[in-house]
Amino acid sequence: MTETVSIGVDLGGTAIKAGAVRGGEVLSRSSVPTPQDEEACLQAIAAAAREVGEEISEKGIGLGVPGVVQPSGDSVAGSPNLSFLARKPLASRVAEILGAPVKMGNDASLAALGEARHGAGAVHQDFFLVTLGTGVGGGLVLGGKLHTGPGMAGEIGHIRVDHQLTCACGAQGCLEAVLGAGPILELLREAGAEAPSLPEAGEQARSGDSESLEGFAQAGKHLGEALAQVALLLDVRVFLLGGGVSAVTDLLAPSAMAVLEERAFGRGREDFLIEQATLGEDAGVIGAAAFALEG
Ligand SMILES: [Zn+2]
Repeated sequence: MTETVSIGVDLGGTAIKAGAVRGGEVLSRSSVPTPQDEEACLQAIAAAAREVGEEISEKGIGLGVPGVVQPSGDSVAGSPNLSFLARKPLASRVAEILGAPVKMGNDASLAALGEARHGAGAVHQDFFLVTLGTGVGGGLVLGGKLHTGPGMAGEIGHIRVDHQLTCACGAQGCLEAVLGAGPILELLREAGAEAPSLPEAGEQARSGDSESLEGFAQAGKHLGEALAQVALLLDVRVFLLGGGVSAVTDLLAPSAMAVLEERAFGRGREDFLIEQATLGEDAGVIGAAAFALEG
């Protein structure tokens, strides 16, 4: 297998992270705060890519963005944290600045590609990655290939589950409204847990605190409702959890599994796997770098 070096850039709401990657290993990295206006942001993306110290090859760079990518692959339909970029030419402008091609994809989809090539997904032909952080995203790998459709496939954060809260997207009942980091803390507090932070609540639950366990069980139940819809639609049986909140995968999985088993009636508990992804915070950069090399 050729071990080509490629560059991945992960555009986040607060930071732009870039890395030079070879064979899934990040050789060098850079990180800059995300400027909050269009031109400065485009320049910062290009600068971050140049800063990793590798010559940008004719393959160009992969760029992960937090939003639904338009069918053209050049712009983002909407991004709650980066609204100033909505529907603006993005990939083509960065390519112009860099003088090299830019392949852009949704950040969670590219993270799934990273896990497929170099992480927990490498041993699975079909899997779904759920990214759990401030928001909830997803990426779908079928037959070993990333499936994005014209750009929106995998948006599990806005699948409807059983609650009445309104999501940042304006719709009611979205998974993201109960499974983002903030909403999980809310569920924990509603269950009567003292939950100053998710890691602390996690520790309390693991030491047997019943209120914390109940809060996580409630969050896991909502996760299971969404996973069951994925399972029924696609017969995907492997679910990887990534992002910062995935550190509590062990606390979310039991109740998620119970709902999966109940709702996706054609499959049993033994058919499903829910586990933590393995690339951690590097998934976005590694996936974007892999995306630059593919297709
Ligand atoms: Zn929503």
